[in-house]
Amino acid sequence: MARRIVLALAVVLALLAPSVARAQSTSDLIYAELDAWWAAAFAERGLSYSSPRLELVDAPGTDFCGFLDSFAVPAAYCPSSNEITISTGFVGPDSLIALLTLISHEWGHHIQIQTDTGVGSAIEYELQADCFAGAFIAYATESDLINPVIGTLALQLTQAAGDVWWAVPFDEAIHGTQSERAIAFLAGQNGGLEACGF
Ligand SMILES: [Zn+2]
Repeated sequence: MARRIVLALAVVLALLAPSVARAQSTSDLIYAELDAWWAAAFAERGLSYSSPRLELVDAPGTDFCGFLDSFAVPAAYCPSSNEITISTGFVGPDSLIALLTLISHEWGHHIQIQTDTGVGSAIEYELQADCFAGAFIAYATESDLINPVIGTLALQLTQAAGDVWWAVPFDEAIHGTQSERAIAFLAGQNGGLEACGF
């Protein structure tokens, strides 16, 4: 309960005074929880783990992975730099639901680079990342880090996204249909990482 209050408080503070520097932002809190959760999952499996970097990009012209302006896409992961980026052009820096959904999905791609998670095709990578996100969000709900409503909205956001909002010209339709994404997310939410094949 205490940590949920801290997270809620961070959001409230952000809403009240968005320009005031905060000790720990919403994305920092999400980062810390995801990092600890994945580190524990790797330790349980006897695997070595390293953390990704996370950057909120707030202006166009930021080179990402050598081929992308990271401000132009809502979220992305670059394996060569171990970096997750979130564009504030799409997502407010204190939007808990969107940040939670996007960061936990992109973190899944970081995990897929760290170790063999048993996926091969592009859509398998994407749906497993949705599954990982669902598993983390179930943990966050059970641990009282977030309200169950937040978890439900994260599922809705994942389903609503489909391949629709990623429709940049060079982007193939690889994220799955709305149904596939919801099923993958729910598999993780109900069955944990094991249900995602990890
Ligand atoms: Zn993805």
